[in-house]
Amino acid sequence: MSGMRKGRLFVIAGPSGAGKGTLRTMALSGIEDLVYSVSCTTRQPREGERDGVDYHFVTERDFEDKVAGGLFLEHAVVHGCCYGTLLESVERETDAGKDVLLEIDVQGARQIREILPESVLIFIAPPSLDALEKRLRRRKTESEDKIALRLENAKKEMALSSEYDRIIVNDNLEQACEELRDLILSSRKVEKA
Ligand code: ADP
Ligand code: 5GP
Repeated sequence: MSGMRKGRLFVIAGPSGAGKGTLRTMALSGIEDLVYSVSCTTRQPREGERDGVDYHFVTERDFEDKVAGGLFLEHAVVHGCCYGTLLESVERETDAGKDVLLEIDVQGARQIREILPESVLIFIAPPSLDALEKRLRRRKTESEDKIALRLENAKKEMALSSEYDRIIVNDNLEQACEELRDLILSSRKVEKA
């Protein structure tokens, strides 16, 4: 008896401002049995962000304890703050047969590929670095120096896009969302066949 099918991981990564958060929300609202794993971070909450919903906001001390305790499936330092995916929150869902969507950085995506090679890795790319800069400014969530850091990191991240199972260029949002949705649904079909 094999029991219920175990869920698998869909990972979206890509530069800050490429539209990962926007696409993630759209995918989650439109696809059944797909859930989001809320990450831990030492970053300060932005206006409107809720603890336990957008992130688990933790202190550096608390984060270090979790690392030492082996509580993370993957973790990394991104733009100067610590971020990590809790093993428990992923397993709870995959054990219940749900697919889990992770929105993490490129270092985290590499770790997932190593640990769970059957995961589907998706790179969300902006149409250009210019467009990316405009989006980051328009979002108004980061100060100028933080925007500069994110743009600098974006160049390095873009160079890693070939490591992914699929690259989705988020130019037209509706189209990118459709592509993501099709990819997730078709991966499920392949698995069943
Ligand atoms: P990320 O999560 O990758 O940092 P966001 O989802 O926050 O990116 O998107 C960055 C900004 O760009 C947001 O203000 C969002 O509304 C906007 N945005 C997302 N997708 C598009 C798109 N296809 N065209 C124009 N603006 C977009
Ligand atoms: P932000 O501070 O804009 O919410 O996120 C910054 C970066 O950290 C984004 O690239 C985001 O995908 C990444 N990130 C968020 N959660 C995690 C996580 O749990 N692990 C890793 N490795 N990266 C994460």
